[in-house]
Amino acid sequence: MNNPIDISIEKAIELIKKCKNIYIVSHVQPDGDNIGSTLALAMAIKKLKGNINVLKVDNIPSDYEFLPSIELIKNHNLDKPIELLITLDSSDLERIGKGRKFAEKAKYIINIDHHITNDNFGDINIVSPKAAATGEIIYQFIEKMGIDIDKDIATCLYTAISTDTGSFMYSNTTYKTHLIVSELLKLGIDTDYININLYQSRSIARTKLFINSLSSLETFLEGKIGIVAITQEMLKTNGAKMEDTEGIISFIRGIKSIEVACLLKELDEKEIKVSLRSKKQIDVSKICNKFNGGGHVRAAGCTIYENISKAKNIIVEEILLHFR
Ligand code: AMP
Ligand code: MN
Ligand code: MN
Repeated sequence: MNNPIDISIEKAIELIKKCKNIYIVSHVQPDGDNIGSTLALAMAIKKLKGNINVLKVDNIPSDYEFLPSIELIKNHNLDKPIELLITLDSSDLERIGKGRKFAEKAKYIINIDHHITNDNFGDINIVSPKAAATGEIIYQFIEKMGIDIDKDIATCLYTAISTDTGSFMYSNTTYKTHLIVSELLKLGIDTDYININLYQSRSIARTKLFINSLSSLETFLEGKIGIVAITQEMLKTNGAKMEDTEGIISFIRGIKSIEVACLLKELDEKEIKVSLRSKKQIDVSKICNKFNGGGHVRAAGCTIYENISKAKNIIVEEILLHFR
């Protein structure tokens, strides 16, 4: 009961009870854990305090539009006082994009996250690298708040945990993950509806991009490293968006010989988002740390500010070093 995380959670709840203008923000290029955790906590705080502000810092991929209370995520300006900012699933302030300005203005920051690379930038830090998803921490948090976890909150938490664990398959999945999810299932959430929305609603454009990108797969080190690069041109050709790259990297990791899968996304001519996944040997968070990024042992990301072919050479060189 007296572990440091529990104490921090209690302090955070006290602060939430005291503060008036509360904002929640998560990272740019949002994923299911980001959006699911954000909405779950937002709904819980709304039950407690009557209102909550949820900052939109990037476009929401259409995959998550089905989530309850998604309309809470919206643009805000800086004209109101910000007493408390709660950041979720973000290992440093860089990750929250334009939310940084809100962080500078906030009187207090609560940082809730599960990345090992989190730099504890908050006044209160609830960082638990053993949690498979930020959604697991939020489940505990809402329980400690004494707020009833209803079907809508449970739907968002299930989405957070399912997406960050690759549907409970990745090595970050623990018995606690399953215990939490079993509690969510008891609440009667519609897993069929959630799973169809999350995993069986791929558009034709996304499918075409998938085929097109995999045909450009390059491998190195006897097939241990696999790379796919997505250019703006490829998006245009297939009528797809960058969010449609979802799923490509896990497909690359699914190749038998692959230890490290790499996806390069050309956000701009000299801004390449790098995603890395590994199977059982290489700590990819260490590789991404070299480029001011971060993440987890088996899933990490960073940005390289070079053109896509240079970025590819740079990341391949760095990955190769970690095999030695
Ligand atoms: P991605 O490849 O973007 O899906 O990210 C994989 C994991 O690494 C996720 O847990 C991300 O939150 C984390 N991550 C991605 N990019 C960064 C970054 N620039 N800095 C820190 N963590 C990141
Ligand atoms: Mn995330
Ligand atoms: Mn996460």
